[in-house]
Amino acid sequence: MSERPVRVRFAPSPTGPLHIGGVRTALYNYLFAKQNGGKFLLRIEDTDQKRFVPGAEEYINQSLAWLGMSPDEGVKEGGEYGPYKQSERMDQYAAYAEQLVQNGNAYYAFDTPEELDEMRAKLEANSMSAKYDSTSRMSMKNSLTLSEDEVKERLKRGDKYIIRIKLQRNEEIRFHDEIRGWIVFNSSQLDDKVLLKEDGLPTYHLANIVDDHLMEITHVIRGEEWLPSAPLHVILYSYLGWESTMPKFAHLPLILKPDGKGKLSKRDGDRLGFPVFPLEWKSTEGEISSGYRESGYMPEAVVNMLAMLGWHPTDNQELFTMNELINAFSLEKVSKSGAKFDMDKAKWYNHHYLMKASSSQLRNMVDHQISEVHLSRGEHYLLQVLEILKEKVSFAGDILPLGQYFFDVPETYDENVKRKKWKDEIPMHITNYVDGLLSEHKSKASEMEEYLQTYADDQRLSKGILMQPLRWVVSGQAGGPPIFQMLELIGLEEIRRRVDIAKEKF
Ligand code: GLU
Repeated sequence: MSERPVRVRFAPSPTGPLHIGGVRTALYNYLFAKQNGGKFLLRIEDTDQKRFVPGAEEYINQSLAWLGMSPDEGVKEGGEYGPYKQSERMDQYAAYAEQLVQNGNAYYAFDTPEELDEMRAKLEANSMSAKYDSTSRMSMKNSLTLSEDEVKERLKRGDKYIIRIKLQRNEEIRFHDEIRGWIVFNSSQLDDKVLLKEDGLPTYHLANIVDDHLMEITHVIRGEEWLPSAPLHVILYSYLGWESTMPKFAHLPLILKPDGKGKLSKRDGDRLGFPVFPLEWKSTEGEISSGYRESGYMPEAVVNMLAMLGWHPTDNQELFTMNELINAFSLEKVSKSGAKFDMDKAKWYNHHYLMKASSSQLRNMVDHQISEVHLSRGEHYLLQVLEILKEKVSFAGDILPLGQYFFDVPETYDENVKRKKWKDEIPMHITNYVDGLLSEHKSKASEMEEYLQTYADDQRLSKGILMQPLRWVVSGQAGGPPIFQMLELIGLEEIRRRVDIAKEKF
């Protein structure tokens, strides 16, 4: 078989906000497609109308766009294989289910809910698993047990029915998973899954296979929770005669809770204090779940962090831009075991990308926090403050609150510094030093630093004992950005004013 052009899909069901596990699935699909010069599709799997949640589809679109992994084909993007939403493809699935019935690989089942309950109860009473399968189906009402005439009669009079797949008993099903190697199941572990529901609509299994086939998907890259469905899918490919173009499978490991105990769930995020959704989500009941974007994460950081949850490169490199990931990613390097979520690591990534951000990017990130006071010394001054403080924070949103003193007299003064350092001759020395800077016009950081050395030498002091009080009178803080850079930015006149204020206060 000649190699087909790579086509992969991310196929979420719009049942709520997209969990970061789903985002990672989308990312790995995206990386794989781009690396292979292929196409990344977004297919909305909304066959289960009962679970439909308004806004979820738009949420998926926005999340992918924010993270920079826009689909090549999809509901919004269009494409030659559309429609890309299953609810708009509903008329095409039934024919495949019928085809399977005609070939003897599926059957009509007419059982009522009561009859099904009865069967389950009977099986359970005999300690058998309550499955509709190759054994139990023979005592049920279906086209395998009823006469041909009766089946025809029932169909004619419009009796309700569903179509189930007819699995063979004790048949070995093998397939190769790109991450896990050979996977072997026995058909007796499975049940005769419903393919077409009473209302004529397909179940997930049928719609998923039919669409993957018609959309010429070459690789199915999805979460581990779908591994138990894979043997059924493999059988469907063979029953439908599509074996030769069956996609390759890759089942991704779970993302685990930080302590490694179980899957990271939708509820864990706000319980453990970190987002599990890319964007903030407001449920129809008005409940808000936090998002990475609103919590101040940069998309580059989220992409990098998610890429490393389950995949590792050949060397120990941890920092990757999207383009670097596209080059380095490989399914073989995706691990089989779950990846623990690590919040400190997430912050570490964000800090890294914050350090790389330009001041105007930072400016955009804090735009919603900016008030008049931040602009009182002009736009350029604001940009410089953002620049000088970014190394001190994990999130852009923490910069302005941390840097209050760049815009006004400190709101608070660190008590410890006052108690330990602001005593004896220190206030006098600080005043003399600052007066000296003023009279000698030393306003550059390097000049201020040099002059402090000169002053300390003259006074036979160690300059160390002046530095912290100097920072403190100006910022109120015990620590902060490089002191002379901070002083240069705040400016001599303002420093002088703050020295007086501190002397008066303390
Ligand atoms: N609609 C399924 C989901 O919500 C798709 C699973 C698959 O990729 O086959 O995850």
